[in-house]
Amino acid sequence: MTGSAAGGPPAGAGPTDTDWAAAVAAVRGLPATARVLLICHVNPDGDALGSMLGFGLGLRRLGVRQLQATFPGPPEVPEPFRWLPGSDLLVAQDDAYPDPDLVICFDAASESRLGDLVDRLDKAGTALVLDHHASNTGFGGIHLVDPHAAATSVVALGLLDRLGVALDAEIAACLYVALSTDTGSFRFEATTPAVHELAARLLATGIRPGEISRQIFDTRPFGAVRLFGEVLGRARLEPAAAAGHGLVWTYATRDDLARHDQPAYVLEALIDSVRCTAEADVSCVVKQAGDAEWAVSLRSKGAVDVSRVATVLGGGGHRFAAGFTGRGTVDEVVERIRAELSGALLPA
Ligand code: AMP
Ligand code: MN
Ligand code: MN
Repeated sequence: MTGSAAGGPPAGAGPTDTDWAAAVAAVRGLPATARVLLICHVNPDGDALGSMLGFGLGLRRLGVRQLQATFPGPPEVPEPFRWLPGSDLLVAQDDAYPDPDLVICFDAASESRLGDLVDRLDKAGTALVLDHHASNTGFGGIHLVDPHAAATSVVALGLLDRLGVALDAEIAACLYVALSTDTGSFRFEATTPAVHELAARLLATGIRPGEISRQIFDTRPFGAVRLFGEVLGRARLEPAAAAGHGLVWTYATRDDLARHDQPAYVLEALIDSVRCTAEADVSCVVKQAGDAEWAVSLRSKGAVDVSRVATVLGGGGHRFAAGFTGRGTVDEVVERIRAELSGALLPA
């Protein structure tokens, strides 16, 4: 079964008219007393937070009063996103409605990305899923999953438009953060004419792209600059990996963070420096998450489908940007990646 409103795996082609109609009905049909819970994926990035909070502001404009937004894990929002409009909707996962009337998930490809909040799917009256991962497992009741969308915020705006919510600068700021994060500041292949048209709509509300970009991409504490120097200094280039397309990788431990007095989120930007390496198609950053647990980021320039590598190793993502949780030592984690690369080559 494809992406019908009744559930099941989402269609590769994106939401059907029936899916959109079901999503609109789920929101429009809410009684005035309804409790709505918005959830985005663990370790939220700009798309997760931006699409969730932008949509949340839209629901507020529609008159939804009992509205919460949350994500699994510690409730700290990474510093670059703390200024986002709608942040007052955020609650810690333990304070989130246990049995909301409607739950809406953002940018999560599978239930595993919802951590301990996964129980809300069953307890909610209706579960609506907004996402753009081709690998989305169809874990909700209504799915708006568009693998061709550059960000989940594109889907979120599609639904806000159908609900008749007027775009304002606060909603636009959130959706712009989401769109610019997932397109790498409008540099990746997913940056279609439609993406620029959408960006134009957002900018027309008066938001300041220079200021937003500086906050989310170009600002980090001096300690993080020094930490990056150290971690980049230990990067390894393996030209023969991935059937000669090359692999570059590095790692960062909790000790590294502690030595430079930095929070873990600063490491999210590291992959962008590592993936610059001309001699490697595939880049990888292995970030310590527990004693023997590592959050792995993978990127490809086009020769390798890294979502395949990540999926085999228990994670997921997009063709050219994916991740998974690795266990063991750094060397063991990297060895597992190496072993999967040549099996994930894309046709030239
Ligand atoms: P990141 O490297 O964390 O920026 O993630 C890149 C992409 O991989 C994102 O689109 C995520 O959806 C996906 N991803 C990252 N980590 C995981 C994971 N542990 N499980 C599933 N998907 C992941
Ligand atoms: Mn994301
Ligand atoms: Mn996304």
